[in-house]
Amino acid sequence: MNETADELRVGETTGGFVVRRIVPMPNLRGTAVELTHQKSAARILHLHNTDSENLFSVTFPTPPPDDTGVPHILEHSVLAGSRRYRVKDPFFEMIKCSMATFINAMTGSDYTVYPVASNVRQDFYNLAEVYMDAVFHPLLTEKTFQREGHHLEFAKAGDVSSDLIIKGIVYNEMKGARSSPETKVYDLIEKNLWPDTPYGKDAGGDPEKIPDLTWQGLRGFHARFYHPSNGYFFLYGDIPTAEHLKFLGPRLNEFARTDIRPQLPSQPRWREPRRVEGVYSVAPTDPVEGKTFLILNWLVGSTLDVAEMFAFSAMERILLGNQSAPLRKALVDSKLGEDLSHTMYWANGIDTSFHVGLKGSDGARGDAFVELVTKTLATVADEGVTRKQFDSALQQLAYRYLEITPSFPLHILGSVNSMWLHGADPLTLLHAEKYIHELREKFDANPRMFSDLIRRKLLENTHRLLMVVRPDREIQQLKDAEFALRMKKLKQSMDSNRLEEIRKNQEELDALLNAPNDPAAVAALPQLRVSDLPRKPRHISTEMEPLAGGGTLLDNDVFSNGVNYLQVSVDLTGLPNDLIEYLPLYGDCVQKMGAAGEDYTAIAQRIAGYTGGVGFSVGVSTRADDPEKIVRHAVFTTKFLDDNAEEALKVLRDLMFELDPRDVPRLKDVLMQSRARQRMRPASDGLTLATRHVSRGMNLEGHLHEILSGMPQIRLFERITEAPPEPLLEKIDAIRKFLLNRRRLTASMTVSPKVKEIVRRRLGEWAIDMRDEPVAEGKFDFTPWTHPVREGLAAPMNVAYCTLAMPAHHISHPDGPGLIVAGRLLSLGYVLEEVRFKGTAYGGGCTYNGAGKVWTFHSYRDPWVNRTLDVYKGALDHIRAAKWSQADVERSIIGAAKEGERPIRPPQATSTALWRYLTGDTNARREARHAKMLELSAGDIRRVLVEQFETNSKSSSVCVVSSREKLEEANAQKPAEVMEIREILAKTDG
Ligand SMILES: [Zn+2]
Repeated sequence: MNETADELRVGETTGGFVVRRIVPMPNLRGTAVELTHQKSAARILHLHNTDSENLFSVTFPTPPPDDTGVPHILEHSVLAGSRRYRVKDPFFEMIKCSMATFINAMTGSDYTVYPVASNVRQDFYNLAEVYMDAVFHPLLTEKTFQREGHHLEFAKAGDVSSDLIIKGIVYNEMKGARSSPETKVYDLIEKNLWPDTPYGKDAGGDPEKIPDLTWQGLRGFHARFYHPSNGYFFLYGDIPTAEHLKFLGPRLNEFARTDIRPQLPSQPRWREPRRVEGVYSVAPTDPVEGKTFLILNWLVGSTLDVAEMFAFSAMERILLGNQSAPLRKALVDSKLGEDLSHTMYWANGIDTSFHVGLKGSDGARGDAFVELVTKTLATVADEGVTRKQFDSALQQLAYRYLEITPSFPLHILGSVNSMWLHGADPLTLLHAEKYIHELREKFDANPRMFSDLIRRKLLENTHRLLMVVRPDREIQQLKDAEFALRMKKLKQSMDSNRLEEIRKNQEELDALLNAPNDPAAVAALPQLRVSDLPRKPRHISTEMEPLAGGGTLLDNDVFSNGVNYLQVSVDLTGLPNDLIEYLPLYGDCVQKMGAAGEDYTAIAQRIAGYTGGVGFSVGVSTRADDPEKIVRHAVFTTKFLDDNAEEALKVLRDLMFELDPRDVPRLKDVLMQSRARQRMRPASDGLTLATRHVSRGMNLEGHLHEILSGMPQIRLFERITEAPPEPLLEKIDAIRKFLLNRRRLTASMTVSPKVKEIVRRRLGEWAIDMRDEPVAEGKFDFTPWTHPVREGLAAPMNVAYCTLAMPAHHISHPDGPGLIVAGRLLSLGYVLEEVRFKGTAYGGGCTYNGAGKVWTFHSYRDPWVNRTLDVYKGALDHIRAAKWSQADVERSIIGAAKEGERPIRPPQATSTALWRYLTGDTNARREARHAKMLELSAGDIRRVLVEQFETNSKSSSVCVVSSREKLEEANAQKPAEVMEIREILAKTDG
């Protein structure tokens, strides 16, 4: 660990870099080194520690000048071919063939960031090399701009007499994003709370403004902002700093410094509060009552005032952090809306803001809402915050800084950037313990500090915005008509030469899209070989022991930094049919109702005071060695700090053993919140709905997944929310009793050594308190489909989610490993190419699910229906004609093997170890699959795919989630293959 300090000295110059600072970071078990590249003025920060997951990232401040989405379109376009890597899509090529644990690019409201991470050193530099070339030397051709941004096309390809339309990947992506009311509300808040700054502009792109962007505009934006002088390079992990400098030096030396200082200004404050009305679109037949969002927003301070940020983060938890928190409780009890929405403390660029909102409300309740919020805040300010409330808030805050989360390096990147890009010390937020400590001292010295904060920053703050966003039935049609008219006029204004130009351009674009990458260009990409891969997948070191009273405890040996993770699972085999669909509601009750003689507010205070939350979920799978043996478990999840172990376990025990749903008014609130969440799902979660629905008749697992997380849940909450509660109380209690059987019990823990004994003892006692009853399989109301079905699920949206599912071998079949690799090959090759690149859907792919015995195709935010379904159908022909080289297959093997090489962070270790145990997926089985995967040849893959499709294509079912109009249009185009259409939200038609 001392090698950094030994090699580098502050003030010294090494290989063209000046060492600015070296800071020991004991809490991250490492050292931070900050440097500047002399010639280009690039800033570099390396957090050097013992983590084998290394991260490379470069971030550019890119404040949007307008609403054309230029930062977002540029983010897409630079990853579409560069000086050294002249392939259409190096980003996707690298996804196919690298061991990247993370690879993406993101556009924020004032920056664009390009991060990649890998556990394998050579792979890490391969990825960094491709990204460096992409951001600093992109080709940015006009065709790329048209493909990613926007271009004109004829509705019927090649037919100049058909309508003109606009196409483009970002254009379609943003149209899709706008079909979610919640996203629309976010956009309106940003636009109206920061009206005079770049934050009020749309970095992602407003579909109505995207067509204003020109190719020159895009190139100009790149030339200005994508320069090392405007670059912030953050690196993380165990590769020595000197090696990074050797990599970066020559690549940065091509650039001389420029004087680029993007302005990231603060919003000038208002003297008077404002009220702004906005709309989101719903279908003409949709109900509009009680569907308005009311959001109260304040600009409160500066990102650079770190002490205040920590105080506000604590205050957010005090006011809203649990079911009994005063502001949350007042809002829920008021019945002014169905549930909270857009409620948060936010550091957006240089300004910090605070938001409190409701969904499922009414515009007329705006004043009552503002009055309730201000009155509640005034009461809290008058009464002050108790020591207990404060301690509980700090406990909650601690997780954010202690937890080693799945994307830990990325989490650190976020903390670094939020300070660095605004000229502050990038390490500031990595010293969270110091600020938490200071906050505690401040509170000790002045227990009224939160009263002052509420008065000064909220009650007396005139930079306040009430945003009222209501549903509108006409707006979409109006806009569509307006757009159609605009296109018509545009077309009329064009002469036949121009029309011919557009036709030709479309043809050229299609030809470019259809042309495969030049194999020489693909080969030029730096890539791993299968021979570079570890021979065995990573294992979690887990010890098994019996619990004193019965059941099994798994003890996972993974460092967890003082945060303890526990999952307690209960086998659901034999759960009566009529209870299955109530499991999610039972889970809501575990998280929101009272227990053991205490009402929900008392329980909520204990959860917030002693744990990082209590969760409940249901998992369904099959045994790794037996396709017919279904594994289904309910899992209680919690995490807690060392000192709170006993209290945390006591809360969990009370909830498991003595959950009490009988507080009917509270139960009604819980139901309303769940219904509000379910009602949003067609817009926010269309792909899950389609995927669950399409495979529900394939087998019992599919059937159970549909009941637990598909459309039936939306229908269930519509049905039970207004119904008499008595039957519900019985169901919830019946589930509670069913679960308390020691023979069903398995627990998994990833904890500190001193916590082990406590968990072991308490869980042993719980088992003794449970009944001891044999576990017997029950009967299901389920008959698998005997012939394929075609269905459409309708809800208001202007995109589609198209899925197709067919049976496949179980993972234990000798072809299981081949299907995993084949799934990747087809998904990232044929399907992505046809659905995303040619069809301009935001995403598309196919998946082999070995545990579920099903093969699925899907598209995401898709402008098409039949076109995409035809792509799925054409897979077999494609497979028969394809000429995969061994290199193609090797790339897919590497991509698939990556799943076994991911870093194991403590939260996932706990659940992964549990499910591996429950399904019998032993280390020996995983090693055998891995070994088999590494040996696959192109011939094996072809055989596996041909067999899969020849045997199962005829059993393919289809489900498309989209608007009724789109579905009907698709049916009209294909009368021989119509989908049966149903409304997702209808209450009657079963
Ligand atoms: Zn995008």
